[in-house]
Amino acid sequence: MKKKRIGIIGAGPSGLAQIRAFEALKNQGEEIPEIVCFEKQSNWGGMWNYSWRTGVGKYGEPIHGSMYKYLWSNGPKECLEFSDYSFDDHFKKPISSYPPRPVLFDYIQGRIKKSEARDFIRFDTTARWVSFDEKTKKFTVILDDLKIDKTYSEEFDYLVVASGHFSTPNMPYFKGIENFPGTAIHAHDFRGADQFKGQNILLIGSSYSAEDIGVQCHKHGANSVTLSYRSNPIGVAWPEGIKELPLVTHFEEDTAYFKDGTSEKFDAVIMCTGYQHKFPFLPDELRLKTKNNLYPDHLYKGVFFNNLPQLIYLGMQDQYYTFNMFDAQAWVARDYMIGRFKLPSEAKRRIDIDKWLKKNDKLETGFDDVDFQSDYIKDLLSLSDYPAFDVDKVGEMFKQWLRDKEEGILTYRDKTFQSVVTGTMAAEHHTEWMDELDDSKERYLYEPEEEELIPDKL
Ligand code: FAD
Ligand code: NAP
Ligand code: MG
Repeated sequence: MKKKRIGIIGAGPSGLAQIRAFEALKNQGEEIPEIVCFEKQSNWGGMWNYSWRTGVGKYGEPIHGSMYKYLWSNGPKECLEFSDYSFDDHFKKPISSYPPRPVLFDYIQGRIKKSEARDFIRFDTTARWVSFDEKTKKFTVILDDLKIDKTYSEEFDYLVVASGHFSTPNMPYFKGIENFPGTAIHAHDFRGADQFKGQNILLIGSSYSAEDIGVQCHKHGANSVTLSYRSNPIGVAWPEGIKELPLVTHFEEDTAYFKDGTSEKFDAVIMCTGYQHKFPFLPDELRLKTKNNLYPDHLYKGVFFNNLPQLIYLGMQDQYYTFNMFDAQAWVARDYMIGRFKLPSEAKRRIDIDKWLKKNDKLETGFDDVDFQSDYIKDLLSLSDYPAFDVDKVGEMFKQWLRDKEEGILTYRDKTFQSVVTGTMAAEHHTEWMDELDDSKERYLYEPEEEELIPDKL
């Protein structure tokens, strides 16, 4: 019999989890289907593959990356650890709980570098359009080989969409902003705090991007940081130099006016207003239509498109859990694709989805969110042989993280946690986070001799 063909769109942490899931099977001596993963960038890692570019890339494709210089993990690494490849496996020594981006990028790659994963991936290749044939039950994917500027198509039995959802900005309009004389950008195009040194900056939004970009700019020398919220302020104990105001009503030149009647002049505006789930390569009937939330509708077990479960979406939820959630999803998706995990009828799947949606509607606090996503992970873990881990303990760590941030938004990254995979207690970083201006892997992993001062630059 001809091997089934599986197409994967995107080689970020989700797409790589799918490849890894099949490799795990291969390592058990089983035959695996034919897998082709398409990645529009020249390297894997998705968001973690830092791009200095904004706007469009070398080949005119929209830039995917939204990460920036000096980005450090915003949650404890113990909450995202792969349960089949620990931090100890990779770094061979305890490291701190909040590593910078290059260190996490290194970790993601470590698990697959030694394998044949790269052979499955066609880089510099954009998925342009997808269609599904009801008769043959196959997907046709139209692809652009960007390097040689050539379009071609391929057929697949299953299609895994792992293209991420923190890339296309949600960019609101505020009256008068077109006459704002300074920089006015979305967080997607923010590439580091350097250019905002000495400036008074205004961030619109009150979620992770606003919080982190605000704190980064403060740390790297902005004169003042003002956050403007629509629904609720972040409400942590802000240090001097950072404050929160209600929503901007309009701009007049460099002055922003706020709902509470106050006004202030700014040098730059950064819209930290979130992202759109955007799948320009999918037709209406296959496209997931959702906002950023913990349980997008129409996805059975958070992954199988209910109208057509041969279409699988990974990582489409808002994320407390990340790498380990993508793994747990990818293992279940794999088992369905090889016939090991059977789906119930569409109606039964609908009932299951509705059960989760109802639960999701009742969430009020951050703690509720954590419990909800923990329950979701437990459900997934019960369905495959992805190595189980102590989800309750990870949930507790997330809650501690939320408390730590409230108490010390500039110091929470100095805290340490214990791995549920190995039991290892994280090390303290050699330098306090607020004093650490270098996010390179070399400096992070540097071990000073006792009493030795670490050079400022390595
Ligand atoms: P992505 O990482 O977005 O990867 C998707 C891939 O699909 C990309 O490589 C892209 O090029 C490719 N692609 C897209 N469209 C196409 C196409 N048409 N054809 C071919 N390829 C395509 N998570 C954490 O755990 N800790 C953090 O500290 C953290 N910080 C973050 C900071 C920022 C600013 C952002 C935006 C996110 C952060 N995240 C963090 C969450 C992050 O989204 C996940 O960690 C993870 O990267 C999601 O993986 P993914 O594979 O689902 O998507
Ligand atoms: P998000 O969590 O979806 O939040 C979007 C924010 O924009 C909300 O505060 C929302 O306010 C606000 N907003 C939307 N439309 C608005 C409008 N018209 N006017 C005013 N405010 C508006 O998006 P995000 O903060 O960009 O986070 C995305 C992901 O990136 C998260 O997974 C996060 O973990 C990750 N991230 C990580 C780091 C890190 O440090 N490692 C840094 C940045 C981002 P309402 O509450 O009113 O809806
Ligand atoms: Mg299990």
